[in-house]
Amino acid sequence: MPRAVAGPEIERLIQLLARLPGLGPRSARRAALHLVRRRADLMEPLTSALRDALDKIVLCRTCGNIDTRDPCTVCADPTRDRSMLIVVESVADLWALERAGAAPGRYHVLGGTLSPLDGIGPDDLNIANLVKRAHEPEVKELVLALNATVDGQTTAHYITDLMRDTEVKVTRLAHGVPVGGELDYLDEGTLSAAIRSRTPF
Ligand code: ZN
Repeated sequence: MPRAVAGPEIERLIQLLARLPGLGPRSARRAALHLVRRRADLMEPLTSALRDALDKIVLCRTCGNIDTRDPCTVCADPTRDRSMLIVVESVADLWALERAGAAPGRYHVLGGTLSPLDGIGPDDLNIANLVKRAHEPEVKELVLALNATVDGQTTAHYITDLMRDTEVKVTRLAHGVPVGGELDYLDEGTLSAAIRSRTPF
């Protein structure tokens, strides 16, 4: 345990910052020092932004997204394609797809994936609500944007089975060569998935 170099208030700030993803103890120390030096133009606004967010954060009851309003900003956006529901595992995945700006529809956040080994079943996820939304007449397509892991694919199959009695088209993200990827560096699973998911040129 390194010796403390500052009073307990600053040491506590460093310890809390070190819990943030992507920040180890060294970057946390650097970030804390940066905040302390820039109290007026950074630390104070950050403190009030954290307080405001903390007071207002809610789960969207429609899609499971995290926001400061319910329905969330995405659900309330009138320019979204209401015929498409994009099913994601987590809010992080929703934000990632929004960063790409490629998904025109609305979302549904499951809050995890089915994982029999960890005891996570359908009732632990936001699935019942998904089935209800998929039955809304305006919904025509369900895009399963789930991770290409065993649990992600198990979940995708489970949801596909639930949609059998609906008219909704179920699609999933393509698996294959990443943009800018070189074939020689890809693993066999990715390569064979890319061959199976080939598209007309
Ligand atoms: Zn929402």
